[in-house]
Amino acid sequence: MGEKIQMIVPLVEMDGDEMTRVIWQDIKEVLLTPYIDLNTDYYDLELKKRDETDDRITVEAAEATKKYGVAVKCATITPNAQRVEEYNLKQMWKSPNGTIRAILDGTVFRTPIIVKNIKPFIKTWEKPITIARHAYGDVYKGVEMKIKGKGRAEIVFTGQDGHVDREVIHDFAGSGIVMAMHNLDESIESFARSCFNYALGQKQDLWFATKDTISKTYDHNFKDVFQDVYDREYQDKFTAAGIEYFYTLIDDAVARVVRSSGGFIWACKNYDGDVMSDMVATAFGSLAMMTSVLVSPDGCYEYEAAHGTVTRHYYQYLQGEKTSTNPVATLFAWTGALRKRGELDGNPGLVQFAGDLEQAALNTIEEGIMTKDLALLAEGEKKIVNTREFLQEVNVRLGHSFGI
Ligand code: NAP
Ligand code: MG
Repeated sequence: MGEKIQMIVPLVEMDGDEMTRVIWQDIKEVLLTPYIDLNTDYYDLELKKRDETDDRITVEAAEATKKYGVAVKCATITPNAQRVEEYNLKQMWKSPNGTIRAILDGTVFRTPIIVKNIKPFIKTWEKPITIARHAYGDVYKGVEMKIKGKGRAEIVFTGQDGHVDREVIHDFAGSGIVMAMHNLDESIESFARSCFNYALGQKQDLWFATKDTISKTYDHNFKDVFQDVYDREYQDKFTAAGIEYFYTLIDDAVARVVRSSGGFIWACKNYDGDVMSDMVATAFGSLAMMTSVLVSPDGCYEYEAAHGTVTRHYYQYLQGEKTSTNPVATLFAWTGALRKRGELDGNPGLVQFAGDLEQAALNTIEEGIMTKDLALLAEGEKKIVNTREFLQEVNVRLGHSFGI
């Protein structure tokens, strides 16, 4: 083997919690540091460190991502009441992903990792479908109220100049419920730009769908903002790249997606993206084979696995058991980040390495060597291995491509 690959600009590395923290170390030890002189700006986002630093570490990690442009993140615990007790926390810290998203103002793109011996539940899907989810507003910032009895519910907007706009929601004859939600043109515009940029980067068509026939102001506004940004800034670039942007009603999009062969990006409003990405991940096989990247409108990238810290496996690991947790999505978070770093720095050796490592992982699974979760889904011969053994098998195949 020749010299180790050098890195020019550091990669922002965000370590995390539980089983994925163990996998993180294993990936670095078995598959990265033997080949690369890893140059990372390291932030430890494990829950204990977030608590110790009053969560400043998360903010610093996000700011470093803005500075260097590319980050890779391990899954982290989002504390709930039980975690506050388990870790004796000062407070119930917010979701690190939420904090990072708020600072980078990004869009999340989720893409399944496809192997030949795991057939999607939808027979026509041959290429991955990427879901782009808007990460601000709508029902996630909704204000809700129970209506106790007879009366009128209204939406009231009071302008800074005192001007008042008012709409009747409903004249209630009895008890019921209401909800008000909002979004911002600025946020929708940056969502649109992130989607158009990502489509250009991937050289894939972009689809966008809402329920604008029913929601004639709210959803229609999303449609108009996208069209506006497209016409003004992206039409020529899309034509040059030979790709297409099109808008359709969400009902129509669902039907088309199911009948498609994949290979495109589907932009969704916040709630649609939440639900549809779980549907697409499951239909392709497994959440353990789904990667996720947050792309900011100014072109910063944060790569991670779509799954969580796999707590159940971690408790088994703490009891001394060797777990067969799937490291593929976490590995692809690393390769995605290394490839992007290589592309931005003009470092072809790093880009090549990322591709070889991904191919080695896919080959391992396609040769029938896999973790337990995939064995339930895969066709043909299979040998179940634990996480560490899986990474070593990937290394054997990676070694081959390095000519050892
Ligand atoms: P999870 O960690 O994704 O795991 C849920 C279940 O899915 C696991 O118990 C396991 O099923 C299966 N699974 C997920 N990833 C797998 C993998 N790589 N290999 C094999 N099986 C896998 O979700 P969770 O248990 O709901 O959440 C655990 C913690 O993760 C929570 O504290 C949550 O806050 C955090 N979380 C973090 C992120 C993030 O950082 N992006 C995202 C989601 C959740 P079996 O147990 O049946 O084997
Ligand atoms: Mg969800």
